[in-house]
Parts: sequence; C-alpha cells; structure tokens
Amino acid sequence: MEVFKGSATFSGIAIGNILYYHRGEYQIRQCLVNNVKKELGDFQKAREKVMEELHALYEYASLNHQGSAYIFKEQIKLLEKGSFTRAVESMIETEKINASYAIATTRDELAQTFRNLEEPFIRERIDNIKEISSRLITFLGGLTSTICLGKEPVILVAEELSPTEILEMEKEKLLAVVTHCGSETSHASIMAKTIGIPSLVDIDIQEEWEGKPAIVDGYTGTLYLNPDAELLKEYEIRCKAEKEEKEELLKLKDQKAVTADGHEVEIYANIANLDDLNSALFYGAEGIGLLRSEFQYLGRENYPRENELFHAYKKVAETMGDKLAVIRTVDLGADKQAAYMGIPAEANPIMGNRGIRLCLDRKRMFKAQLRAIYRASAYGNLAIMYPMITSEEELDEIEEIVSQVKAGMQEKGISYREIPTSIMIEVPAAVMICQELARRVDFLSLGTNDLIQYTLAMDRQNPLLKNKYNDHHPAILRMIKMVVEAGHKENCRVCICGELAADTTLTETFLRMGVDSLSVVPACILPVRKAVRKTIVGKKEQ
Ligand code: PEP
Ligand code: MG
Repeated sequence: MEVFKGSATFSGIAIGNILYYHRGEYQIRQCLVNNVKKELGDFQKAREKVMEELHALYEYASLNHQGSAYIFKEQIKLLEKGSFTRAVESMIETEKINASYAIATTRDELAQTFRNLEEPFIRERIDNIKEISSRLITFLGGLTSTICLGKEPVILVAEELSPTEILEMEKEKLLAVVTHCGSETSHASIMAKTIGIPSLVDIDIQEEWEGKPAIVDGYTGTLYLNPDAELLKEYEIRCKAEKEEKEELLKLKDQKAVTADGHEVEIYANIANLDDLNSALFYGAEGIGLLRSEFQYLGRENYPRENELFHAYKKVAETMGDKLAVIRTVDLGADKQAAYMGIPAEANPIMGNRGIRLCLDRKRMFKAQLRAIYRASAYGNLAIMYPMITSEEELDEIEEIVSQVKAGMQEKGISYREIPTSIMIEVPAAVMICQELARRVDFLSLGTNDLIQYTLAMDRQNPLLKNKYNDHHPAILRMIKMVVEAGHKENCRVCICGELAADTTLTETFLRMGVDSLSVVPACILPVRKAVRKTIVGKKEQ
C-alpha cells in the first residue's frame, strides 16, 4: 500500500479502481449546419450502414451465441422508424445541428429521463440506444459526445482537468476526482463538488496507477493506492456510516433554514447546467442563487444560439416555478475559454478581458443571451446577474443595452417580465463602491472565489499558494461585512455565492453580519442548513 497526501476540495470517501485520464480523448462538438437536408441524408445513410452491421452481427450471433442474438434484433428495431430516430431527425431539423450531436443529445436525454427506473426492460433499452448511438456516431465521424470512462465507476486521476472536460464526462461513472493541479475554487473542483463526489488536488499522480484499486479520503486529502485488507475494511465501514449520515441530513430537505433564535435565511443552489437542477431540487434548494451560464458556451464549436439558450432558461424557470432562479450572464475568459471565441492570448488572463468586460465588447453575443433570459422570464421567477462588475459606467452600458433589447422585444410583440437585477461583488473595486452600485440594482451577490484572489493578489488556481491562500483573511471578512451593510442601507439583499458560503465554520459569522442568503453547490445545501439551524445569532454585529 502507498499513501499520497494532497488537499481535499470536497469531502467524502470513495473506494474503487483508478482510471488515468489522458487529455485529448475524443468528444463531439455541436455545429450548426447550413444544409439540413444533407444532414438528414447523412443520418439516413448512417442508419442503413449500422443496420447492415447489426444484421451481420445478428446472423453471426444466431449461429454462435444464440443467447445474445436477440440484442441485435432489438437494436435493429430501434433504428427502424421509431421514437429514437424521429427525435434525432426532429432535432436536426428544428435546431439545424449536426447529426452526431443530435444523436448524442437524444441518447443522453433518454438516459437521463429513465435513469431512476430499475425495470430490466427499460435498462436494456437504454443500453441498446447507447450502443446504436456509438455506432451511428462512429460512422458519421463524430465519435462520442462524452468522455468515456468505461463500464464501471472509477476514481478519475488526471494531471489537470478543465471545466469543459468534467462537463463532458459521464458523471454517474465518477466516484472521485484526483488531480495534480487545481485548487478548492478552481472551476474544475467546483464542478466536482457540484456532482457531490470527493475530490483531491495536489497529488503527484502517476500513469502506472491505471487500473489499480484505491481509496480516496476527501476529509484528510489522502489517496491510498493498493490499500491493504484492514484499511479497506475500515473505509468500507466509514463509507456506510457516511451514507447513514447523509440519510440523516436528508431529513432536513424540506425544513427551513431558521436559526435557533428565529432568524431566517435562504439557502440557494449554485448550478452549472440543467442536470444540476435535479440535484438542487433533491437537496431542497430554496431557489437557484447562481446559474453559471458559461457552461452553455464551452465544449462546442460555435456560439450557442438565442433559441438554445432560451430553451435552457425556460426549463430552469419552469422547473423552479415560484422559486427564484438567478441567471448569471456569461463569465467567459480566464480559465473558461473555447477556441471559436478567438479570445486573443493574454499575459495575465485572470486580470484580462473576462466576464462583463468581454460581454460589453461582444455585444451580439451579449444581446442574444439577454434576449434569451428575458424571453424565459415569462415562464417563472427569474433574476439576472452580471459578473465581474467594477464600475458604475459598466452598469450604464448594461442598462443601455438591456433597454435596446427590451425595445426590440416589444416591437416584435415578444413578452417578458421586469425581473430583478443583481450584480456580483467579486472585485475589490466593487466592494469600495458597493453602496453606489446597490442603489442601482435589486440585490448583491458576493463572489468570494474571485474576491479572495483579487484581494490577496493570489491566483485561486495556483497550488504553490495553497498554504498562503487564507480565505478567512480579516480583509475578506471585513469586506463581506461592508457589502452587507452598504447593501442593506439601500434596501438590497445580500447573498454569498462563492465557495465560502458553504464553509460551515463561518455560517455563524455570516449570519451575525446579516447576510440574507447563501448559495452553495447542491451537495452542501443540507450541511449548511443544519449549521444555520444550530446557530444562535443574538444581536447583529456592530
Ligand atoms: C465567485 O467568484 O465567487 C463566483 C461565484 O464566480 P465563479 O466562481 O464562477 O468565478
Ligand atoms: Mg467569479
């Protein structure tokens, strides 16, 4: 047995075999197509070709492995005109997208819809759809849409992971994520937390670990390679206890976050995509405090179209119903880049053209997103939030653009609601002028991940700084207090949506400061709710 120490970025225990992830695994990208007819024709050819393959396999299996021959028959049936084929064709036609992507999306949507059904018939049907999808995609040259992790769930080990890579992985196959690079607030770690699996960074990983058994301890930041029988037994017992503890926490799912002396706060969820919506609801989120919309822009070959964005936001609005859902406009740049955006190389991207700055430079992209958000506003209780605000001039520009967007919608008779506006306070400049900013918006949301890195002048992803990166620095706590006070003077509610919101050692401090809501990854909702319910706020801090 070998023991490796790193830092835990999300707690939990995982026991399983290691998969060493090599960058450059194939993925398919979404592309818009000019010639829909040709794309439908290509899909038809792929179906014919795959059916031919399957007929051959059926013949072979009938002669040699009779027990499995029926599988190929079922797969052929699925490829003949049926709901799967129709769904793919309709997606190509309505969204004008490439066939490979339409196949992959249809497959994933079906798998997602039926993921909780245990009937063997349904499971088999989903497996068959997955199988024929891979064959079709391979024929079309698009390979596979997700990063394949194999059959069994794995402990994924990688030098580093980008948010896009985690996004494209088959999440149900991930037991834990272990990387060499990264930090607690790097976006890849946030994605792992959102899935709710233990994750470690700063481990000197090795390729030879591939396939070996391991234990990940996300409480102590330890990876045990080839664990001995005794340790394995101990961790199996702990795993069971952890499961029981989680079940106990689930009892708080429908409870309010009210302190022992009656102060109520809201606990919202931070989500990055539509899949996370289910987790948010599962853990009893009172709303969505932060939808990181940039993930709709990553892992693809061109900008998402307004309609696509609209459908995603509409789904969020409808799913959440009366509950608030805050859509943050896209915060691209820095570590969130896609080749098609052509963001020029910057010496220091963290300080570069990111967030609202990039949006104000790329007005077409920005307006498309604003229109999508406002169109979706008619379907639920949405709010809009702008990232990386540093000045009132930026708000002037945003307001001007928003009024143009609304005027355009009115002209076309498209309905929308006047929804609350909010900004992220995540740059020290915004803290210093937060009262002026608060006057102009409905609420403020503290993005402590960036606020800490810009205040301490330490890159949030740099592992060399991990022992110096003090996220409880008095400067940070004082800034949070300043923002809460300034916000309240202007009748603005103040939320914290950075990772610090989930730090239960600070829950009492935040409540005493008067923070109105905390927005955390779904898996942290219940631990934070529990911490709130145990707290006695007493008199607010002066
Ligand atoms: C933050 O900076 O705290 C935040 C919530 O935004 P992100 O982590 O997406 O930069
Ligand atoms: Mg931020």
